Amino acid sequence: MTLLDTPAAPVDADRLAAALEHANIPTLVVVLHQLTGDRRWLAAPYRPQRGRGMDDNASGGLPDDVQGQIRAAALEAVLAWSHGRPAAVPAPRGDALVELLEVAQGEPVPPEFEPMLAELLGFAPAPEHGQVAGAAGFSALVVGAGVSGMLAALRLRALGVTVTVLEKNDDVGGTWLENRYPGAGVDTPSHLYSYSFFDHDWATYFGRQPEVEQYLRDFADANDLRGLVRFGTEVASSGWDDAAQEWVVTTTTGETFRANAVVSAVGQLNRPRVPVIEGMESFSGRVFHSALWPDDVDLAGRRVVAIGTGASAMQIVPAVVDDVAHLTVFQRSPQWVAPNSDIFRRFPDEAHWLMRTVPLYRDWYRARLAWTFNDKVHRSLQRDPAWTEPARSVNAENDAHRRVFTRYLEAELADRPDLLAKCLPGYPPFGKRMLLDNGWFAALRREHVDLVAEEVLRFTPSGVESAGAHVDADVVILCTGFQAHEFLGPWQVRGRSGRTVREQWGPDDATAYLGVTVPDLPNFFMLIGPNTALGHGGSMITIAEFQAEYVVRLVERMLGEGITSVEPRAEVAREYTERVDAAHGAMIWTHPGMTNWYRNPAGRVVSTLPWRIVDYREMIREPDLGDFLVRRAD
Ligand code: NAP
Repeated sequence: MTLLDTPAAPVDADRLAAALEHANIPTLVVVLHQLTGDRRWLAAPYRPQRGRGMDDNASGGLPDDVQGQIRAAALEAVLAWSHGRPAAVPAPRGDALVELLEVAQGEPVPPEFEPMLAELLGFAPAPEHGQVAGAAGFSALVVGAGVSGMLAALRLRALGVTVTVLEKNDDVGGTWLENRYPGAGVDTPSHLYSYSFFDHDWATYFGRQPEVEQYLRDFADANDLRGLVRFGTEVASSGWDDAAQEWVVTTTTGETFRANAVVSAVGQLNRPRVPVIEGMESFSGRVFHSALWPDDVDLAGRRVVAIGTGASAMQIVPAVVDDVAHLTVFQRSPQWVAPNSDIFRRFPDEAHWLMRTVPLYRDWYRARLAWTFNDKVHRSLQRDPAWTEPARSVNAENDAHRRVFTRYLEAELADRPDLLAKCLPGYPPFGKRMLLDNGWFAALRREHVDLVAEEVLRFTPSGVESAGAHVDADVVILCTGFQAHEFLGPWQVRGRSGRTVREQWGPDDATAYLGVTVPDLPNFFMLIGPNTALGHGGSMITIAEFQAEYVVRLVERMLGEGITSVEPRAEVAREYTERVDAAHGAMIWTHPGMTNWYRNPAGRVVSTLPWRIVDYREMIREPDLGDFLVRRAD
């Protein structure tokens, strides 16, 4: 709800007073200022303190009596607004807006964040794309009906383009449909990990998989998207027909489709990486990958082995530990784990009610999350060439993070020096994807849990074996991640030249201009393509929204100017990739001493974005047709 909206009815004073007890104070302070215009709320004693860590900073670090004054003033201001008093500062821009975020966060905010912030809060006009004449004659095939595929379908349909979505599963949701393991959930706060234009009252701060899956179903239904989707349809190959200026797309069952454009929305973490381990077929128990969790598996009273210690294992282990008779975790490399006091926090109904009722409250709440989670950590991931402790960290700030996480680890495992020695990573924090502690250390401490810091070498009929251990097991869970470097998976895409994109890229070295378009592939648009996953923070939905907007603007230009195809110029794409590589060369993920799924076997980072989100937004804002080979209708 914006400050310019008129409420349908005056707000109930008692309900508001009760709900304000659950308000996030830094969020409330800026709303209060906008409602009243009173600058008193922006200064001491009301100005919130900077939050520590990544939690919500709910109290703003302010004493109870000051919080009480803020709540009382907010009660009066919201009631007055709901009775018709216009907001004093409805849509600040420029320095005034930056100042409000600085107040809400208790720290300086660089001015370049202003445009993104203004858009997030609805103070900048949202880009509008109405129906374009002749659009119905232009067809787009979207591959995948997950987070980004549904977004692309919605946005292209709004132009009037004829859209068909091909989805290999029988429902929408993509990764959130497939990853159904116990404990699955997001580790970016859900109010940020959601579409900017489709609100939801999240039950928990970090949404769990069933709720995320339902959210995505609701998104499909609310936007009437299911009718566009061909479920149970997996794409096998595509070839560009240059004479017709069309893609010919063939499914695994041999069905073919023709379309002017193809949008790949297949995700980066789509294909489970099932390791080839000697003897696996001889194992008499059950073995499965975390992303292929069987419906009928019952772990109660079982001897369970988990292989891997990434984000999936981090969620599975604490979720199943109470059920199993015995659990052994095989750890090839230790992980950095950060504390977060909000990890199990539920949102009370009053907080939801505030978000629905108090104007701008939800938007400011999200804006604060965007600031905290998007780019704040980016600077600390730059390698300091003068840094002399590369085995510990990459710069002074990264070293400070190391000390914080080490102290946390030592406190969690104080009584278990055996675990402490195994769990302390010998590489800088953030070198692999940072994990949030959701009960991981508590689970490892349990008596019926063992941590074996060795790689599994082979299966035997009764269990698994490493160099120093044999563990009998009834169930082995492969938490071994995804084929993250093989972009587009088994989908064979043949470009204008007749070469496949795999021939262009090689097996694991995908590149794309701005992560979206690829030379030799006219009208082929990738969402969350190469180097656009997020390793430093933020929500991939934000990136998908930027990219969908870019594609929509490109298609709009094509339709308006009689363009039949666009394809990035090879030199533009090459120069972009050089910039990506140079940026990554100065960042942590190319640092020696650890592996991560961002980097291919040759050491090139292919998955993650090297820039801040705010910088990438500027790069991808407006397509420049000069970057493309453009073919027009004769
Ligand atoms: P991952 O981070 O790639 O972790 C895979 C784990 O398996 C690592 O510990 C790896 O060890 C180990 N491993 C791989 N192959 C092995 C082998 N042959 N033998 C022994 N160990 C092996 O995979 P993930 O945990 O599925 O997570 C992947 C990504 O998915 C995450 O980084 C995240 O982006 C996303 N995800 C997010 C969430 C969330 O939001 N909460 C949850 C799950 C997944 P090494 O470290 O030594 O390679």
